[in-house]
Amino acid sequence: MVKIIAINAGSSSLKFQLLQMPEEEVIAKGLIERIGLKDPIFSMTTNGEKIELIQSIQNHQDAVKILLHMLIEQKAVSSLDDIDGIGHRLVHGGEDFSDSVLITEEAIAHFEKLSDLAPLHNPANITGIKEFQKALPQVPAVAVFDTAFHQTMPESSFLYSIPYDYYKKYGIRKYGFHGTSHKYVSGRAAELLNRPIESIRLISCHLGNGASIAAIDGGQSIDTSMGFTPLAGVTMGTRSGNLDPALIPFIMEKTDKSAEEVLDVLNKKSGMLGVSGFSSDLRDIEVEASQGNPRAQLALDVFASRIHKYIGSYAARMNGVDAIIFTAGIGENSDVIREKVLAGLQFMGVYVDPDLNKIRGKEAFISYPHSPVKVIVIPTNEEVMIARDTVRLANL
Ligand code: ADP
Repeated sequence: MVKIIAINAGSSSLKFQLLQMPEEEVIAKGLIERIGLKDPIFSMTTNGEKIELIQSIQNHQDAVKILLHMLIEQKAVSSLDDIDGIGHRLVHGGEDFSDSVLITEEAIAHFEKLSDLAPLHNPANITGIKEFQKALPQVPAVAVFDTAFHQTMPESSFLYSIPYDYYKKYGIRKYGFHGTSHKYVSGRAAELLNRPIESIRLISCHLGNGASIAAIDGGQSIDTSMGFTPLAGVTMGTRSGNLDPALIPFIMEKTDKSAEEVLDVLNKKSGMLGVSGFSSDLRDIEVEASQGNPRAQLALDVFASRIHKYIGSYAARMNGVDAIIFTAGIGENSDVIREKVLAGLQFMGVYVDPDLNKIRGKEAFISYPHSPVKVIVIPTNEEVMIARDTVRLANL
């Protein structure tokens, strides 16, 4: 029996979970928000009890200190010696990491080289790694990459149709993200279907603020909607997803913006926020849409239709599909989006039961028993994957 902390360090936030393994039992979980900003918040739930503190947290070093202090204070651990391993989420592993890895000095130097590919995410993840190393130098740590699961994609899926040299010289290719989530839900789907994962074809729809679809054949990712960065693929909360690349210079010229500013619009002011004009949050959009706001209805239709088309194309890529999975905030909770996405897929054997589709936040089949293609809602659990890999790679 060991205790593992799973960490997801962002630039101003740090999400954590303390798990007991191999039971996969959550002992404590929480979030530190607004690190280095005004009014930082530390929140943690242990034994069903939630505490929230507002106190000065100037940097990640402070965040790690307060987290370790509160784990002891709330009796989640009796001393820091109780912590057996730390698993860190790292967004980008490039082509060099097709599996999680034990963190060493060489590994950190390697991660730093990859920051070029994910300048917004990897540096914050690496800061988290270094601060835990300083605070708990004797505890083994493992890095788990968002990109690793997609490293099985064939070249025909990950190559862009641009000069081949760009791939070789600059690493320009599709990497894909949310791999830890797609891997977790595909494994659960095989268990729920009671079939070996090697024998099934799955389409996994991870629909949160960020959203991506993956085609998983025999347990291996063979294609996914995000690309070189998480901007590509389906419409998201604030990201545009795919568009004609010629639009970028056109928008630059029309709006007198720099390339960087246009990218900022595509990342932060587009998607459902851009279409609806008022929110990126699906809950707000659903409320407005139900009251007849046409732009809210349009945002739902744009979002759902993109996902619908990916399902069709990934079914074509795999010559069929055995099950479609919905996960993350929207996938787990929104019957409205699931219904829209799945409408008109009867031609390929998808028959959804509207009563079962009402489920929220729980594992459940929402297709009729006779539906040749099953549809399953599966809450994702990236932390458990991080903890499993930490136990495996640190030999705990
Ligand atoms: P992130 O990508 O930030 O991890 P989440 O997986 O938490 O995002 O998903 C956030 C999205 O899920 C938001 O658009 C939110 O509105 C939506 N969501 C969460 N709960 C519900 C709900 N009960 N009904 C509809 N949408 C929901």
